[in-house]
Amino acid sequence: MPQCEVCGNDYDKTIEIRAAGATHVFDSFECAIQALAPHCEHCGCTVIGHGHEADGRFFCCAHCAAAEGVKQLADRADAGAPA
Ligand SMILES: [Zn+2]
Ligand SMILES: [Zn+2]
Repeated sequence: MPQCEVCGNDYDKTIEIRAAGATHVFDSFECAIQALAPHCEHCGCTVIGHGHEADGRFFCCAHCAAAEGVKQLADRADAGAPA
């Protein structure tokens, strides 16, 4: 049976994920996230949603991007409008 490349679990319901031309095998999304998900450059949390990317750097939110000097990202399209 296929084996999870993170934890080594032999499992009949593994999932395969293609990333950057390579195929990876996992027994769970948890393991896939651990192996493939980027980490926020500012706070270090795992980015499992769309996240924010600027110049090849990943951030979990606009606040973290701004804290690292990336000013062009925003969490809200209407950030400049009155609340
Ligand atoms: Zn696993
Ligand atoms: Zn962050």
